[in-house]
Order: sequence, then structure tokens, then C-alpha cells
Amino acid sequence: MIEYRNLRVAILGAGSVGAQVASLLLEHGDELASRVGAGLELVGVAVRDPKAKRTTDIPKHLITTDARTLILGADIVIELMGGLEPAREYIELAMNSGADVITANKALLATHGPELFAIAEQVGAQLYYEAAVGGAIPIIRPLRDSLAGDRVHRILGIVNGTTNYILDRMDTEGDSLEEALAAATELGYAEADPTADIGGYDAAQKATILASLAFHTAVPLESVYREGIEKITHAQVLAARNAGYVVKLLAVCERMVDAETGVEGVSARVHPALVPLAHPLAAVHGANNAVFLEAEAAGSLMFYGAGAGGVQTASAVLGDVVSAARRHVIGGPGVAESTQANLPILPISSVTTRYQITLEVVDRPGVLAAIATMFSEHGVSVEAVQQSVRPEPVQDGGAPTATLVIGTHEATESALAATVASLDANESVAEVTSVLRVEGIQMPELVR
Ligand code: NAP
Repeated sequence: MIEYRNLRVAILGAGSVGAQVASLLLEHGDELASRVGAGLELVGVAVRDPKAKRTTDIPKHLITTDARTLILGADIVIELMGGLEPAREYIELAMNSGADVITANKALLATHGPELFAIAEQVGAQLYYEAAVGGAIPIIRPLRDSLAGDRVHRILGIVNGTTNYILDRMDTEGDSLEEALAAATELGYAEADPTADIGGYDAAQKATILASLAFHTAVPLESVYREGIEKITHAQVLAARNAGYVVKLLAVCERMVDAETGVEGVSARVHPALVPLAHPLAAVHGANNAVFLEAEAAGSLMFYGAGAGGVQTASAVLGDVVSAARRHVIGGPGVAESTQANLPILPISSVTTRYQITLEVVDRPGVLAAIATMFSEHGVSVEAVQQSVRPEPVQDGGAPTATLVIGTHEATESALAATVASLDANESVAEVTSVLRVEGIQMPELVR
């Protein structure tokens, strides 16, 4: 057997993930070499501060602040710095100098993915990113390889562990959003500035990556509709549970036909949603992630596990390292990004789903019928109504009000938005307190 030379591996970043990747590479080098058919030699780890304390013991001689020189001497570059720059510049430099690249950087891929994939294709480099979505969970490779012969119709993903932890605590411990966020911060699940998680920005970046891969279409980040969990209250979570649902922040990626125009396209959106308690996603607790996927031939599949964590994420990174290294040994082109379907991106107004609307209405005869008429005037069919009368008026001297919780059949976002606008403008409606989408009730009609 021909002995293949050692492959030189460089890591950019030695934080939560990078330090673990470095240690695992050093610890399991022999085992990985036997899987690859060549040795994997860690030639350096680039950092900003060489004196900073690391979570694992990385030999001092491997630490460098000269990322460029390190990149130019490597066969495989693992980017684990995060952020847009200089990560983008370093990845380009690596590919242009003949190295393959592995990254966990969802923000970078969601923003500059198409141009980086174009460079990879042009120079024949591989660009792998299993760890960019769902941490340890294998989801990128299943979408790119295992399901390449199938047609994916829909993805419902819990892809942000921080918000899942917060919503789960609000459900199981009775916490307010603020209390649950404080607990998440104390446990290290939430950043000092939690906006990226709470506002759904992190989940939107992952939705872009998943939708692009699943539908063989470049889905830009700007096209992803986004709502965070900032306005979710404990009362909503409690009402959801009483009605047989749990509130989850979902990334929903769909291949669908616009009901009005008949155009077939794709849509990606991130928002809090009511998920039936019997749905497998309802059982995803704590900071875990899960991706529930519906494909034409495969049917329903669910991928579940740790969505973050240094060592867990390092597992996905090392899987990519082994794949990239094997190609070095075997030869042949890298995996090109598949965007040949190039389907139109449909706006949120085209989406069809179910809704649950909670209203505070003036408690007098005829109001319920008037409200039902407003729904039907906009083509939104009401499935169920629950009513509870407040013992006290909302304000001193105000008329007594009742709370209505209205569940709808499937309706378009535009029809629902028009209904909510009419409700808001109606004098019998004191307030539309909540509008939540309901997901995961039934398989959508498959596009064939
Ligand atoms: P982190 O703990 O903040 O570590 C970042 C590392 O990059 C640090 O070692 C830092 O060096 C180094 N660095 C930053 N800018 C640099 C520069 N200009 N030149 C050289 N080194 C630089 O980050 P992380 O949590 O490990 O995340 C890394 C990547 O993995 C991110 O893209 C993140 O989104 C992704 N990811 C993370 C997780 C997770 O659980 N943490 C899960 C999935 C994906 P110093 O230490 O010297 O400052």
C-alpha cells in the first residue's frame, strides 16, 4: 500500500470549539489517520491573544498570531474564529492557496455563502460546514448527500438552543421571559447581549443555510422572514399548554405553491409557533436542537441532539476534517454547492398556515357573530373559539370584556394580516393580544 504523506491541518481560533478540536485531533490522531489513510498533523492554532487561558491544553509551540503564514502552509484549514472578517478573508486565502476549508461559522455562510461556494468550485476546493447548523447534529451531510435523491418539501427546525431553553423553562417552571433569560445567562447558554438568539437572527442564518441546501436554491438571508420571542409571555405559554400546544421558536423552510399566483417556489421564516404536544418537536427540551424534515419519498425524519457546546460541536468539525482528508488521499473534485433548481423565493404573504388569535373583546350580545363575520369576509375559516369572561372590567369604568381564543383553518398570511387589521380597527375589540402560527398539525400537500 502506498503511504500518503501527512496532511497539515491548521486551526483558526482556540475558543470553545477550536480548543476542543485541537485537543481531539492531538488525542485521536492515530485513530483518525487509520480512517483517513494518512496522518493528520496539527501544524498550528491561530489566536488573537497567545497568553489567554484555554479550555484545553494546547502545546505552546502550536499557538500563533500569524494566521496568514499558518494558512499558506496548510492542506486543511479549520475556521473557528467566528464573525465576518477576517474569517471571510482567511477562508478565501486558504482556498486560493489550495487548501480545503472547514467552518462552523453560520453568520459568515448566511452572509457570504454564495461567493465562498463559487470560489470553492472555481479552484476545486472543498468547503464543509456541518457544525454551522445544529452543533453536533448531523444535518448538513444528510441533506446534501443522503437525501440528494429525494425531494425535501418542508423543514421545521428548533435550531437555537438558547431560545428553546428559555421557552422550555417558561413552560415547565412557570418562569417569565426575563427570569428564564437570566437563568440561561447564568448557565452560559445566553450571551451578554442575547439579541442574536432572542430576536431570531441566529435561527434565520441557519434557516438560510438549511433552505438553500434542501431546495437546491440560493435563499438569501434578507428573504428570511424573522420574528423573535421577545413578546412571548408566560400567559401565552400557559394558554398554549392548556390548549394542547407548546410554544417553540421554529425555522420553517418550505417548498410550496403560492395559492394566488400558482408560482412554485420556496420560503424560509423564523418565528415563535404553537406545536401540538403530540409532535416530536414538542419533546425537544432544554438547550437541545432538532430538525424535523418531510421529504417526498423518505417521509418524516427527525434529527435531534446537542445544538451547541465546545466538545459536541467539535465532533461535527472533526467529521468534516475526516471527509476533507479522505478526498485528499483519494483525489477527485470537492462537493459543489447545488443551487441548480433556482426556485423563486416567495414572500411571507404567500405562506399558508394555521393561526391562533387571542382577543380582548367587549362583552355584549352579538360581538362573537360580528367577529366571526370579519374572519369569513377575509376568507379565513374559523375552526374553534374559546371564550372566557373577565370578572372585572379592564379599566375602571370600562365595559366588561371577554377573552376570545380563535383557532383558524389554513389561511394565507395576507388574509390573516387583513383580518387582524379589521379586528384592530373594530370598536368591539379592545385589543388583539396575540397572533401565533400553528405548525406541525399535518403534512402539507406535497408538491410533485
Ligand atoms: P469563541 O469561543 O469566541 O472563540 C473564538 C476564537 O477565535 C478565540 O480563540 C479567538 O482568539 C480567535 N480569534 C478571533 N478573532 C481572531 C483573529 N482575528 N485572528 C486570530 N484568532 C482570532 O468562539 P466559539 O464559540 O468557539 O465559536 C467558533 C465558531 O463556531 C463560530 O463561528 C460559532 O458561531 C461556531 N459555533 C459555535 C458553537 C458553540 O457551541 N460555541 C456551536 C456551533 C457553532 P482569542 O482567544 O485569543 O481571543
